[in-house]
Amino acid sequence: MSQPVDKLVSREFKLDVAQAQQRIWQDCAAITGYQKITLHDALHRVLAEPIHSPINVPTNTNSAVDGYAVLHTDIPAEGRQALQLIGTAYAGAPFAHTLRAGQAVRIMTGAVIPEGADCVVMQEQVQVHQDQIEIDGQHRAGENIRRAGEDLAAGAIALAAGKRLQPADLGLLASLGINEIRVWRRLRVAFFSTGDELRSLGEPLAKGQIYDSNRYTLRGMLKALDLDLIDLGVVKDDPQSLRQVLRSAAAEADAIITSGGVSVGDADYLREIMQSLGEMHFWQIAMKPGRPLAYGRIADTPLFGLPGNPVAVMVTFYQFVQPALLKLSGVSEVHAPRCFQVRSGSTFRKRPGRTEFQRAILETDEQGELQVHSFGRQGSGILRSMSEANCLVVLPKDSGDVEVGDRVAVQVFEGLMP
Ligand code: AMP
Ligand code: MG
Repeated sequence: MSQPVDKLVSREFKLDVAQAQQRIWQDCAAITGYQKITLHDALHRVLAEPIHSPINVPTNTNSAVDGYAVLHTDIPAEGRQALQLIGTAYAGAPFAHTLRAGQAVRIMTGAVIPEGADCVVMQEQVQVHQDQIEIDGQHRAGENIRRAGEDLAAGAIALAAGKRLQPADLGLLASLGINEIRVWRRLRVAFFSTGDELRSLGEPLAKGQIYDSNRYTLRGMLKALDLDLIDLGVVKDDPQSLRQVLRSAAAEADAIITSGGVSVGDADYLREIMQSLGEMHFWQIAMKPGRPLAYGRIADTPLFGLPGNPVAVMVTFYQFVQPALLKLSGVSEVHAPRCFQVRSGSTFRKRPGRTEFQRAILETDEQGELQVHSFGRQGSGILRSMSEANCLVVLPKDSGDVEVGDRVAVQVFEGLMP
């Protein structure tokens, strides 16, 4: 990964998106340090150890439907068979006796299968006459029965280490009676904006000045990951201030994210400073938006130097930084944002030679088919395009213009934002 910096800065050398992703993710190893928490606080936390099921799921062999528990040997080869109704099994209140030939028990969904029974006939398929039922021959042994341990056997791994817990996982853990779990501690992420032209909210704007929007976009994207955030504000394009902030950020945080100052302009000092304080890999990436991207370490803390343009910040964050932060958080499997193919409802202008991430709107047409339309203006400073779009269309490096009816790959924002 250590290409000489000068060579990488050269105009000709451009890394592909996938290459840059691999280099960054390979370099990011999970933090250490875990804590014990209860299920109450566990959403989106990352398991530090596998969870073995202490019990069978289901715990007991039980009925999948409301119906009648019978012996399969009582199922008639032809015609109908009358059986004596001898009691009821409720979920949580099992039938206490053993079933014998010629007998049936009324049974509710989730109730334990009575001793002797090995088939449940749905109530819709049974005729009831007072204390007798009649069944036909259309049934088989094991019908409508959920076996103890069929979802998960006692001792089997219910959830693997490195799993980021989703609502279903919380329910699964609860179903196993597990309340206390070990998770990796939350990743601490420091972030700041750079640029002499930036003003914070509440400050008046002089000519040529703009509000710092990147820090708010970044905060939102980081919040969605449920990390501990350290907001370091706006830092001037001044080597001394930058050096100082980076040093203290590296001491406090597990990762640092900056925006702006990584281009080749006169006021772009970040690359120089990264190099002097640690290790720096600066890449021209064959992508749009987001061409310049710096990645490196300040005193061992990973630093993501994102471009300054607001759309580029978001696009590079989702393609490179979010998976890296998840990996640093202990997530065992990280991958590029998922793409799927849909039909294009508009043309997309595209120059071969770089991967383009164009803002677009995904919708269903009258036939219920998904279609994607270009948002229109694609300038990397037009943040409204991200706000109004609902997906990115990913146009591969070597592709050219897209015509109506072509298939294109999309990354849906709802899937990108966890
Ligand atoms: P830079 O990479 O520093 O040259 O910035 C590229 C463009 O993004 C310039 O037009 C900057 O004014 C703009 N920009 C940089 N940082 C921010 C920010 N935090 N909020 C809004 N725009 C920014
Ligand atoms: Mg700047």
